[in-house]
This record gives sequence, structure tokens and C-alpha cells, in this order.
Amino acid sequence: MIVILLGPPGAGKGTQAAAIVKSLKIPHVSTGDIFRANLEYETALGLEAKKYMDQGQLVPDDLVVRLVADRLSKPDAEAGALLDGFPRTIVQAQALSDILAAKGKKVDRCLLLEVPDQDLIARLSGRRLCRSCGQGYHIISSPPKREMICDKCGGEVYQRDDDQAETIKSRLAVYHEKTQPLVHWYQSRGLLKVINGQNDPQTVQSEIAQALGL
Ligand code: AMP
Repeated sequence: MIVILLGPPGAGKGTQAAAIVKSLKIPHVSTGDIFRANLEYETALGLEAKKYMDQGQLVPDDLVVRLVADRLSKPDAEAGALLDGFPRTIVQAQALSDILAAKGKKVDRCLLLEVPDQDLIARLSGRRLCRSCGQGYHIISSPPKREMICDKCGGEVYQRDDDQAETIKSRLAVYHEKTQPLVHWYQSRGLLKVINGQNDPQTVQSEIAQALGL
């Protein structure tokens, strides 16, 4: 099954992705995570992506598309994948459908997590993440018990470089301009399911499970 998680930055895609992949037993393909991992190891891909990420801009389509095509050709993606943060432009959506068609596959569902901009700004500016296990925290609503230390694994809790106020603004503007047109793209193909991302994570998870027939 190929499932797309669509939604603005801070909508809770990463949190929900973890639950979905557990139920569906498919890999979690997050292009943002792949870029961050590459950056950590200072690969050429990571350093190239950083130029765009630091400004809250999108990495060029051809680079992202090649990365995803390669990831989807790995054996663990035979059964499908959960795409998180991809596609983000119409060019990427078209490329994805071509990549899948060549394998006799297609997108099965696109889940849109909807959250208003003002909530996203509050979420993103207070967001913290564990560098080791990816567990998410928020400095106000769900801080780690010990400052900067992950409750789950003891790893270092940090703030993403692109979760700074100015970069958040650019990321939201880019989302509305480049990614929001995908809502219509998937809706017109009968694949879109809108989920209210303002609810608590457990409620969002149940709505998603229902949408996927789990
Ligand atoms: P994310 O973790 O999904 O918020 O992604 C972090 C950053 O990685 C984005 O702000 C972009 O700079 C870059 N990125 C991730 N996925 C894509 C994509 N599909 N297309 C272009 N840039 C991307």
C-alpha cells in the first residue's frame, strides 16, 4: 500500500507516521529525515540540501525525485511505503505517479493533516526532538522530564535549525504556494482524506486508522 501523509510543517506528520507504519508494516519514507541523516554524515547530498533547508526553501525537485525513486526500489518497499514530506510539488506528484506506474503500482491514499497556521507557528517554535530516537517534545505542552534529555532513550533533545521563527515563516509560505495545490490534485483523483490535525494525537491516530480501514 502506498500512503501519502500531506500537511504543513508541524501538522504532526512524523508522530502519526510512526503509528501508521507499525500497523501497515511498511517503511516510513521521510525525505526530511533522509536529508537530515545525510547532513549529519556531511554527505554531498546533505550539504547540497542544507543550502535550501536553512532558508526554509524546497530542495530542487530532480534531487528529491531521484532520492525517492532510489528509496522505493529497495526490497523493503515492495509491499509499499508511507511517504512523509513527499511529494511537495505538482512536479514531484507527477514523478511519483510515473515511478509507481513503472512498477505497476499507484498511490492508494493521501491523508491531509489540516492545522491552521497560527497553531503551526506555536507548535514549531516550541518543538524539540530527540537526536537518537526522534521522539518529539514541546517546551510548553510536553517537555522532557530532564532538560534536553530524552525520556525514552536518554538521547540529546535538540531544536531543528529550521524551527527558528524566520525559517518557520518561509516554510509555511512555501507550503501554501507549492504544496497546497496537491490537495486538489489528490482530491480530484478521489484519493484524499482530510483529517483534523488540531485534535489530540490519539484522536488523530484513530481517524487515520479509520481512513485506512485498519
Ligand atoms: P521536513 O522534515 O519534511 O519538514 O523537511 C525539512 C526540509 O527538507 C524542508 O523544509 C525542505 O527544505 C527539505 N525537503 C524535505 N522534503 C522535501 C521535498 N519533498 N521536496 C523538497 N524539499 C524537501
